[in-house]
Amino acid sequence: MTTPSFNRVEIDLAALSHNYRAIQNSVGKGVEIMAVIKSDAYGHGLIRGAEALAGAGAATFGVAEVEEGVALRENGITGNIVVMLGCSEDGFEDVLDYRLQPVVFDPDVLENLSKFAGEHGKTVPVHVKMDLGMGRLGILPEQIADFLARLKNLKGVTPVGFISHFPLADSPDRQKTRDQSRRFGEIMQEVQQILGGKCVSHIANSAALLRLPETHFDMVRPGIALYGCPPVTPETMHSELSLRPVMRFTTRIIQIKQVPAGCGISYGHTYLTDRPTKVAVLPVGYDDGYLRSLSSQGQVLIRGRRAPVIGRICMNACMVDVTDIGDVVTGDEAVLLGCQKEESITADEVAGWMNTISYEVLCLFGGKNTRIYKN
Ligand SMILES: *Cc1c(COP(=O)(O)O)cnc(C)c1O
Repeated sequence: MTTPSFNRVEIDLAALSHNYRAIQNSVGKGVEIMAVIKSDAYGHGLIRGAEALAGAGAATFGVAEVEEGVALRENGITGNIVVMLGCSEDGFEDVLDYRLQPVVFDPDVLENLSKFAGEHGKTVPVHVKMDLGMGRLGILPEQIADFLARLKNLKGVTPVGFISHFPLADSPDRQKTRDQSRRFGEIMQEVQQILGGKCVSHIANSAALLRLPETHFDMVRPGIALYGCPPVTPETMHSELSLRPVMRFTTRIIQIKQVPAGCGISYGHTYLTDRPTKVAVLPVGYDDGYLRSLSSQGQVLIRGRRAPVIGRICMNACMVDVTDIGDVVTGDEAVLLGCQKEESITADEVAGWMNTISYEVLCLFGGKNTRIYKN
């Protein structure tokens, strides 16, 4: 046994399953779910995350790249795996061998994939991606007809999905997303006609699926909501769904000391104590994802109470003020994300201090630390 780090990220797999089921209940049985598990399941762990979601009923998974799909298959995940960034020639063999479903948006790649699959006597299911205002991946609406006409004549590839993505689903003004959703629906009708078959249409991310039921179509693609973070502020959510946070990040106090008023704390002495202060040293820093932007901004929970970070965050350490907390001792747990007793720190709160969004907080904390799985 190696000595474990002071820092640990706990993943509550029961909460993940709960969130999946809660989303399935809210969208209803007629709507499928693609569980978005790109980026190591937003820092929660690709394989363990996928296994828990499969246990909760997930049959379709969304990843960013081919290699993630390969890892899922090699670990026994059997559902549909959609590769949202698509693939280039390097990935054709794995797409075939591991039965992945790439998103397609480039006619040349599509033709080459068709040729490759044909030579191997196989057919690859693909999801056609349209850019409806995101300005990211996808064919523009005016190019759709040509693209589909070409696709129809190709062997070795078969369209199984029609996909787009909302740029403004989390904006307080829902009208633009409603308009884009209507447009998606109209184009989708034409697509189905051209292809003469049944493609699964999907466009809604967490924010859209929770706030705008008309965006559900055949399938929804939740990411952040699965991990228990509201995609928008509660006031603009328009949803009764109760999501449970899945990630908790903790460390332990490794030293406590009493210092006088006027004492500089950490590099640069950017913080000077304004009273006699009890300082606790935590063995967590920016290398653990507890970014330097949290210097004199962040808060942690100790004995169920909030302690502010004082001074600069170092590479592997930072200091918090525990003067008001009482009987704090070395070895006490400090919670950087999640709950302790009655108090809790959400990913959105940390994101606010870090000037980013909950997604980045989860990826950082989960990606940088040893994960421990519960339930
Ligand atoms: C990441 C991603 C999602 C999930 O978005 P959330 O806001 O986390 O729900 C859905 N669709 C695509 C194409 C994505 O890249």
